[in-house]
Amino acid sequence: MSISTKIQTAIENSSWIRRMFEEGAALIAQYGRENVFDFSLGNPSNEPPEAFYRELHKLVDHPVAGMHRYMHNAGYEETRAAVAKTLTAKSGQLVEAKHVLMTCGAGGGLNVALKTILNPGEEVVILAPYFVEYKFYADNHGGITREVWTNRKTFQPDVEAIESAITEKTRALIINSPNNPTGAVYPAEILKKLGQMLERKQSELGRTIYVISDEPYARLVYDNLQIPSVFDFIRNSVIITSHSKDLALPGERIGYLAASPALDDVTLFMNGAIFCNRVLGFVNAPALMQRLVTSLQDESIDIGEYQQKRDLLYSHLDGLGFKMVKPGGGFYLFPQSPIADDLAFVRQAQKHKLLLVPGSGFGAPGFFRIAYCVEMETIHRSLPAWERLAIDVGLKC
Ligand code: PLP
Repeated sequence: MSISTKIQTAIENSSWIRRMFEEGAALIAQYGRENVFDFSLGNPSNEPPEAFYRELHKLVDHPVAGMHRYMHNAGYEETRAAVAKTLTAKSGQLVEAKHVLMTCGAGGGLNVALKTILNPGEEVVILAPYFVEYKFYADNHGGITREVWTNRKTFQPDVEAIESAITEKTRALIINSPNNPTGAVYPAEILKKLGQMLERKQSELGRTIYVISDEPYARLVYDNLQIPSVFDFIRNSVIITSHSKDLALPGERIGYLAASPALDDVTLFMNGAIFCNRVLGFVNAPALMQRLVTSLQDESIDIGEYQQKRDLLYSHLDGLGFKMVKPGGGFYLFPQSPIADDLAFVRQAQKHKLLLVPGSGFGAPGFFRIAYCVEMETIHRSLPAWERLAIDVGLKC
C-alpha cells in the first residue's frame, strides 16, 4: 500500500458519503441541475454582501504597498484589532488584538487550536450530532474523541452527560452553536451551567479543560434570538469562527481564533497558536481577505432571506408529518428519518430527486440533514417532491 494505512481506512470508512455524492452527481448529469434538488452541501448559494465588493474595489483601485508580502504569522494588527473590538462589544470582556489570530477559515483555526493544546492520547469531547471533521481534526494532532449525545429532543448540550465523560485525560470540549447539523442555538443558562461544571472538574482534576467554541454560523440567527458570548460564561474558552457563512466567502478561507482574556496562561496559549499556524503550513491567513474583512465585522449576508427559507421548508415538512426541532440559527434542518435506516431513507429521497445527507454522517443514525442554503426558487420547486417522498415512506395518506 502506497499511502498511510490510517488515511486509507478513513477514505474507506467514508466511502458511502462519496458514493452518495457520486449518485447525486449522476442524477444531476441525467436530469439536469434544475431538476435535481440538492440539499446536501453547506455551500451558500448567495453572493457576498455589497460592502464586500465595495472594499474589494477600493483595494484594487488603491493598492497598498507590500500588500502581497508575508506578514506576522498572527495576521495584520488592524484586522486583529477590528475583530477584538467586535468581540469586546459582544461580550463585555476586554478582548485585545493580542488575543486574536487570523486563520484559514474555521477549519484552519480548529486545527491550530487542537495542535496547540493536545498531548498524544488526550481526549476531546464532541457532542453528537457533530460536524464530522472534528474527529479527523482531533486525530490530526494525536487526540482521541469521546462522543456525548446532546438532548435528543432539543439537541441542547446535556451538561451531566458531558461531566460523566470527562476523565483525567480530557483536554477539550468542542461546542458549536448555532449548530451544524441541528440548527440548535445554545442559551446563556446552558453555557453558564457548563462553565460552572467545568470550573468544578478543572479544580478536581487539576488541569485546564478548554472549551473550543466553533461559531461559523454565529451571525445566522433567527426570530431576534441573541447569541450569548461564551467568554461571559466559560473562562477557558476559545472562539473559532470564519466568514465562510456570514459573508458567504467559504472559498476564500478567512476566519479567526480568539482566546478569552481570562484563559489560563493566555499569552503562552496565543504564542503556541501563532507558532502552530506557522508550522501547520498555513503561515498566515490570506492577506487580501484580512484587509477586506477588517471593515466588514458588522456586515452579513441577508439573514431575513435564510429565515424565509427555513420557515417555508419547516412548515411544509411539518405539514407532511416530518418530526424535527425548529432551528434557531444556521441553515440546516435535522428531521427524524421516517424509516429507521437513515441511509435507506436518503436513497429513497434520491428517487424523488432530493439529495440529502444521512444522520449517520454526523454520528446520529435515524436522522437526516437538509442544507437549505439554496436558492428560494429551488425550495419552491422541491415542495411537490417532498410531498411525493412523504407519501412514499408512509407519512401521508
Ligand atoms: N465548523 C462547522 C460546524 C462547519 O459547518 C464548518 C463548515 O461547514 C466549519 C467548521 C468549517 O468552516 P470553514 O469553511 O470556515 O473552514
